[in-house]
Amino acid sequence: MNPIEEDSDAPWLDFHTHTTFSDGDLSLDEMVELALERGLTHLAITDHLFTHIAPVHLVALDEDSAPQADDELLEEIKGDAVADIGFGEYISELERIRADAATKGLCVFAGGEIDFLVAEKHFQVMVGALNRLDFLLVENINGGNWRKFKSLIESLEIPVGLAHMDIFSAFPDVPPKMLASAVAEVGVFVELNAASMWRVESLKEAEAHYAELMKRKQRFSFGTDLHDLRPIAGAVAAGWEFVVSTGLEPGMEWIRALSKGRETETG
Ligand SMILES: [Zn+2]
Repeated sequence: MNPIEEDSDAPWLDFHTHTTFSDGDLSLDEMVELALERGLTHLAITDHLFTHIAPVHLVALDEDSAPQADDELLEEIKGDAVADIGFGEYISELERIRADAATKGLCVFAGGEIDFLVAEKHFQVMVGALNRLDFLLVENINGGNWRKFKSLIESLEIPVGLAHMDIFSAFPDVPPKMLASAVAEVGVFVELNAASMWRVESLKEAEAHYAELMKRKQRFSFGTDLHDLRPIAGAVAAGWEFVVSTGLEPGMEWIRALSKGRETETG
């Protein structure tokens, strides 16, 4: 069942995956099993949260997380829900799987992915829940909502990353140096997404951006955006080769540090 063939130059991390908690085909247990087969040491589950885009919603409005539940948000996220799964359940399932995976040498992170176009309206309601995650991926950030993004994420205490290489496609007219300094100012990490990398006309063209980002000791992550078992070996290998050859991998060391920090925290 392994869609990612053995590769000598395989990544050690996958920081972007979807399970049956949102629109993925694999259960949490299957995703962990697959990560072990892939030889990963660091896996993040990043199911879609609070969105009407995913076919299955993850409703975060359990009482602890969001006492000030927002009716409009409830309408929006419950509108076409196939199933509502409490955020608390997501977190507790991830904690269970994390303890088990740790005994097998795999560090599992409880992440999440939000669509900023939906989230910006209800951000204050979500903050309490989001801060229970290890980190957050945000999609659909662009020149039009950058300022708002910058001000809203100040209330998050967890690392935040820009998903899907949005950084280059969303700011086509911003010169690399300016973009890199804006990213550094906000303090977010930048995701290299194996599933999206083919969309970049030429990764060579993005190299100027990466060069500027690296000058500022930018943090990066690498993820597959895995939703199902369609073969993605080629994309993963090509994406990781780009990461290694461009010298971006040291920018991912913070992820190992994040796992160590958590070990100390939980004893
Ligand atoms: Zn995703």
